[in-house]
Amino acid sequence: MQCSKCRRDAVVQQRYSGLRLCETHFLEDVERKVKRRLRKEIKLRSGNTLAVALSGGKDSSVLLYVLCGIFGRRRDINIVAITVDEGIAGYRPKYVRQAKKLADELSVDLFLFSFKAVFGATLDEIVRAAGLDDELRDKAPCTFCGVLRKTLLNRVGRELGVAAIATAHNLDDEAQTILMNYIRGDIARLLRAPARSEKFVPRVKPLRDVPEEEVALYGMLRGLKVEFEECPYKRLSFRFKILSWLNDFERRHPGTRYSILRGFERLVQDERRHFEPKSCERCGEPCAGNICQACRLLSKININYAP
Ligand code: SF4
Repeated sequence: MQCSKCRRDAVVQQRYSGLRLCETHFLEDVERKVKRRLRKEIKLRSGNTLAVALSGGKDSSVLLYVLCGIFGRRRDINIVAITVDEGIAGYRPKYVRQAKKLADELSVDLFLFSFKAVFGATLDEIVRAAGLDDELRDKAPCTFCGVLRKTLLNRVGRELGVAAIATAHNLDDEAQTILMNYIRGDIARLLRAPARSEKFVPRVKPLRDVPEEEVALYGMLRGLKVEFEECPYKRLSFRFKILSWLNDFERRHPGTRYSILRGFERLVQDERRHFEPKSCERCGEPCAGNICQACRLLSKININYAP
C-alpha cells in the first residue's frame, strides 16, 4: 500500500478521506488538523499561558506533545500541564507517573491535584457511597468523575491565571457526546455555549478532528510510551454503549463520526447561546442554575464542597 502523496509505504488508510498516508504525511496531517482547530477556537496573545489537562493517557500525552511542538519555538507562550488524580485504585497511579515523566521530558511544569484533597473523597470512595449503578446516570461513576474533574480544572486554571485549558477530546469523544445528548433529548445542553465570564476559563479541544485510532498511531510513531489500560468504571458508562455502537457503524459506513460532528456544527452555528452564569449558592463556583453540578452530585453522598 503506497502513500497517496509520495509513493512511500503507507502506515494508514483513511477510509473516510480515501487517502493512504506514509509516516511523514500522516504526522503532518494530524498536526495540520490540530493547528486548524486551534486557529478556529482560540487566539493566544503574547504572554499567555495555555494549560493542558494531562491524564497521562494516550490522548492527553499526544496533545501535550503536539502543542509543545507547535508553541515550542514561541518563547512568549507558556505551556503548563494540570493532572487530576481522581483516586481510582490500581488504575490512576501509573498514569500519574506517566504524566510526570512526559512533562519532565518536555520541560513542562506540571500541577497535580487530587479529588481527595479538593473534595474530601477519592472517586472510589464516592462510588462506594453512591452505589454502583449504570442505569441511573446521576449515580454512574463517570458522571461524578467528569463533573468533578471539570470543576477542579476550571478552579485550578483560574487560580493559575491561564488563558485557556486544552483538553484531549478526540473526534470519537465528540461524536459520542453529541449522540448521547440527542438520545437523552438534552437539546438545551447541546445548544449551550460556554458562559462568557472571568470565572470560567475558556476551553479548547485541539484533537476534535482527529479520530481516536489516529491519535494512538501518532503516539506510537512519535515513540510516546503510554499505557493502554482501560479505566475499571468505563464499561459502566452510557458513553461505552454509544461507543460500541458508533465504532460498528464507522466500520460499515466510514466517515460517520465526521458527519455527526460537521452536521452538529452546522446545525448549531447560529443557535448557540452564551448563558449568563450565576454563582453556586454553596461553593461560589460559576454555574447555569443556583447550585452547581458538583455540589448537587456531592450532596447525594453527603459531602459539602466548600473551597
Ligand atoms: Fe473517570 Fe469514567 Fe474516565 Fe474512568 S472512564 S477516568 S470514571 S470518566
